Amino acid sequence: MDIKSGFIGTIGNTPLIRLHSFCEETGCEILGKAEFLNPGGSVKDRAALYIIQDAEQQGRLKPGGTVVEGTAGNTGIGLAHICNAKGYKCLIIIPETQSQEKMDLLRTLGAEVRPVPAVPYRDPNNYVKLSGRIAEETENAIWANQFDNLANRRAHYETTGPEIWMQTDGKIDAWVAATGTGGTYAGAAMFFKEKNPNIRCVLADPMGSALYNYFKTGELKIEGSSITEGIGTSRVTANLEGAPVDDAIRIDDHEVLRVVYQLLHKDGLFMGGSVGINVGAAVALAKQMGPGHTIVTVLCDGGARYQSRLYNREWLASKGLLIAS
Ligand code: PMP
Repeated sequence: MDIKSGFIGTIGNTPLIRLHSFCEETGCEILGKAEFLNPGGSVKDRAALYIIQDAEQQGRLKPGGTVVEGTAGNTGIGLAHICNAKGYKCLIIIPETQSQEKMDLLRTLGAEVRPVPAVPYRDPNNYVKLSGRIAEETENAIWANQFDNLANRRAHYETTGPEIWMQTDGKIDAWVAATGTGGTYAGAAMFFKEKNPNIRCVLADPMGSALYNYFKTGELKIEGSSITEGIGTSRVTANLEGAPVDDAIRIDDHEVLRVVYQLLHKDGLFMGGSVGINVGAAVALAKQMGPGHTIVTVLCDGGARYQSRLYNREWLASKGLLIAS
């Protein structure tokens, strides 16, 4: 018998997928960890589970308690599912620029959703800072604090990294991923470096994020903007702090669209925008490293969450982005 224990027992152990069209394009093995197959639909189910379990183990989260978080959506979706499965309440503070699909889904899952203006991190009313204050003011509540709560990257150090290691028999030349909180990138990168310091760990960054410049020049400088959601930051979070970064690659929205539409039309994979950054960076890295290498990245979430944007010609045109038909 092979029976999973509810929603929580179904998180993780996702397949590793060979992205054929990009392997052909580069002569490398480009492999994507299929995190969109987690039961809540994204890589963030892993962090959400570790954060909740950690708070329970420390006695901070008690029966009937509330989990409060500032999230671009996917962490909130993971938290909301787990809260339902465990009998907690869930309160989500989300920047109002995030897609309608994610907000609707959060409400359907029973979370209380408070959209707030999207202001930079230095502003006291930034959604992350607001969520911390609201958690403090709410009775019997915890703040998930995904950006600086190290239970997040531990999820990837203890599960995502080891799973990829098993799935590839340790035959990996490079690991590349974009960062929102940094949990996925850092947790797996730390695990891989301990196993084999020769595995090249490369941070992928969208335009509008400060990390590419930070790792290239030491300056947290933002240039441009991106239609991708859930990734890119203006600071080094606690989850990213101390992670090995051998190099950084920046991918623009034109390449994101090329990649996600190629994944859709040639590989049969309907993916979210951060996957465009991840696979785009894996392709760029493959071209730098030359044929014959194995490069692993993350397929963070699926395209349905972005139907009204990434997969909507009018919306793309309104952003000055055109896609080849
Ligand atoms: N892709 C998407 C779509 C996300 O929502 C997130 C998390 N916000 C990430 C990638 C990045 O994951 P992490 O927070 O582990 O860096």
